[in-house]
Amino acid sequence: MPSNDQKTILITGGAGFVGSHLCDRLLSAGHRVISLDNFHTGRRTNHHRHLSNPNFRLIDADIAAPLPEMAVDEIYNLACPASPVHYQESPITTLRTNLLGAVNVLELAVSQRARVLQASTSEVYGDPLIHPQTEDYFGNVNSFGERACYDEGKRAAEALFHAYEQERGADIRIARIFNTYGPRMQHDDGRVVSNFVVQALRQQPITLYGDGSQTRSFCFVDDLVDGLVRLMASDVKTPVNLGNPNEFTMIELAGLVMELTGSRSSVTHLPLPSDDPKRRRPDIAKAERLLGWTPTIPLAAGLPLTIAFFRDALTAGGELVPSPDDAFPYQMSAE
Ligand code: NAD
Ligand code: UDP
Repeated sequence: MPSNDQKTILITGGAGFVGSHLCDRLLSAGHRVISLDNFHTGRRTNHHRHLSNPNFRLIDADIAAPLPEMAVDEIYNLACPASPVHYQESPITTLRTNLLGAVNVLELAVSQRARVLQASTSEVYGDPLIHPQTEDYFGNVNSFGERACYDEGKRAAEALFHAYEQERGADIRIARIFNTYGPRMQHDDGRVVSNFVVQALRQQPITLYGDGSQTRSFCFVDDLVDGLVRLMASDVKTPVNLGNPNEFTMIELAGLVMELTGSRSSVTHLPLPSDDPKRRRPDIAKAERLLGWTPTIPLAAGLPLTIAFFRDALTAGGELVPSPDDAFPYQMSAE
């Protein structure tokens, strides 16, 4: 790549599921990538493939604390636990990451005149009263519920991005990401795809919450990364939905996972968590029109790749191989 096309790009949350795939994509395009992560839910092993690349740097830091000054052209703000199990472990930590983290990232972006993209979420629509969800829907969110730390944290982060654009001229982009899945999801983070696949591979009961009629629309991670990169390159400063509009009930998902794994697992019904959205499907007309983006990988194609990833992670005894995180010797600090 000609050196004037090479950018220095900060990815907060780069060691996470989506962040590590984004690192793959940006490094292979020839950019310099800095991953900043406190390994709350991310894994050092997700960076193994990046460490030998001279264009890659890793910084172990918390975005809720003031960030080290660094020269960057673009920032993707992905740092935040994404699964309900993890973000509900410490609601205060989740809110600090979303609120203080957004301020710190925006301050860095303004000081560096860097373009900054916020990984927002379909959770800003809460348990939506319109279907599918368009970007102009204001949402149906409970500020006092189990999901509030994440939903309201992400909503406030969007408001902070908007405020920094208005008052400080920040060059912002906002992606409202819908359920995304693929290799490198954590096996134990409680999200439905990883739960069902790991349970099916272990011949354990599939845990269906409620009656399983609630819906989600699942986007394969490569499609999402493509959408994020297109949004960053665009001039669209208002929120854009990124997700796959094909909608499935959780019963349908369980059936597909059983079929593709050849599992003989039974299904066990557990209580539906409170404030669990009943239906979710993105309207992606805006992304199609303004970014020329549409997902290309259906669940029937992405799920086998995800199953293969989890199958590889299983030992013959059916246990997941322990992460070698603790033995990981490599860590760079900020310059
Ligand atoms: P993930 O939990 O795998 O990754 C999040 C990363 O952020 C981890 O590496 C974690 O260690 C890091 N992190 C968390 N708090 C931090 C802090 N205070 N300072 C520094 N690093 C911190 O989650 P993911 O699925 O890769 O999600 C990435 C982003 O996309 C998140 O912001 C999430 O809210 C958003 N998102 C994801 C989905 C999805 O389905 N995966 C859907 C909607 C939105
Ligand atoms: N779910 C389920 N069994 C599980 C995990 C989740 O039935 O083992 C359901 C959950 O109640 C929700 C849907 O699957 O309706 C998606 O859950 P996930 O945590 O993946 O994402 P989110 O609710 O944040 O969209």
